[in-house]
Amino acid sequence: MGKIEMKTPLVEMDGDEMTRVLWQIIKDELILPFVDLKSEYYDLGLKKRDETDDEITKQSAEATKKYGVAVKCATITPNAARVEEYDLKRMYPSPNGTIRAILDGTVFRAPILVKGIEPCVKNWKKPITIARHAYGDVYKASEMKIPGAGKVELVYTADDGSEQRVLVHEFKGAGVVQGQHNLTASIESFARSCFEYALAEKQDLWFATKDTISKQYDHTFKDIFSEIFEAEYKDKFDAAGIEYFYTLIDDAVARVMKSEGGFIWACKNYDGDVMSDMLSSAFGSLAMMTSVLVSPQGYYEYEAAHGTVQRHYYKHLKGEETSTNSVATIFAWSGAFRKRAQLDELPELEKYANALEKATIATIENGKMTGDLARITTMSDPVVLNSKDFIVAIREELEKIL
Ligand code: NAP
Ligand code: MG
Repeated sequence: MGKIEMKTPLVEMDGDEMTRVLWQIIKDELILPFVDLKSEYYDLGLKKRDETDDEITKQSAEATKKYGVAVKCATITPNAARVEEYDLKRMYPSPNGTIRAILDGTVFRAPILVKGIEPCVKNWKKPITIARHAYGDVYKASEMKIPGAGKVELVYTADDGSEQRVLVHEFKGAGVVQGQHNLTASIESFARSCFEYALAEKQDLWFATKDTISKQYDHTFKDIFSEIFEAEYKDKFDAAGIEYFYTLIDDAVARVMKSEGGFIWACKNYDGDVMSDMLSSAFGSLAMMTSVLVSPQGYYEYEAAHGTVQRHYYKHLKGEETSTNSVATIFAWSGAFRKRAQLDELPELEKYANALEKATIATIENGKMTGDLARITTMSDPVVLNSKDFIVAIREELEKIL
């Protein structure tokens, strides 16, 4: 059987540590034997970022704008310890932050469900995807401690010099104060990314804020979503048989717990931060969580939700055996191939992407898994495989399917 053909290259962003080790094994065992891989390779490993003064990260994001679909390995965000460990010229910013700033997107995170790894919430039968707005609010807030009695006001000075003021509080004693902001343009692109993603996934979209209490701030989010939906997406949603549903955040939380899953939950920045950790732990494990950045122009960047698994990498360097879970990284590849297949109309490639996911899930459901899953499975006698043997076991399943 010949290898599956591609048309447009994927933007391939290699990364660091244990996930870089997995990246190569995944390519050797699960991709290159089956697909005539076309990719434009960018090495975002920390050494290469340092050599290029981080230009490579920007180039990889620009390439994503050119081709439309990228697949990214986890990368180190340097801190002081990393600057020393890698003898870096400077403390580079987070590659994900750099890429997000260039592509201007929203991050969608969804759990991968398998039998034997059961969600804590019994009625969750399908994945719940979180769409997190990644700009502003408490993450870009200005704060002040108020030492004692006095008046705090918000003052807006327009470029023409005119002013608007509102009283925050007349303090009788000590306290704290915080000023938050967001941007209409950013909220609009958040909304469009969510609507586009819901259409692509054919799933309902939920959005919730605290608009009853926050009548200007949160209400603006609600209004922008509603206006864009009515003007640009209502007909498309009707045609796709899906719905957009707005409710109060308290009501959303209550409904999520009672639901069976299978929808996208758009969250403001803070809600998305907190709720995605709740969802990933309730569904099982960070190593079973996919993540995709979707830009309002329809560019896609797929990755795993976890980091470079540093602790396992140091064991690997010492020659010790590791049992690192490659599922989320494999699903980053399958997600990217499926999107490429849909854009380029390549049914064979789409079939391969689906088969790769099916083989991965079947391997676990047959009782073969990595240590992190063996610790939480409801199966009575799981077989714990090392990092490489787990991927080789998936290859055996994949060969059966293909
Ligand atoms: P991490 O790589 O996510 O790992 C934290 C712990 O979670 C691991 O030590 C391991 O627990 C468990 N774990 C995570 N992924 C796993 C997997 N695939 N298989 C098995 N166990 C897994 O987070 P970190 O150690 O805090 O961060 C390491 C580096 O990753 C940092 O330099 C950070 O900057 C970077 N990072 C990158 C991204 C990204 O590129 N998207 C995201 C987050 C962090 P046990 O040790 O108990 O086995
Ligand atoms: Mg968090």
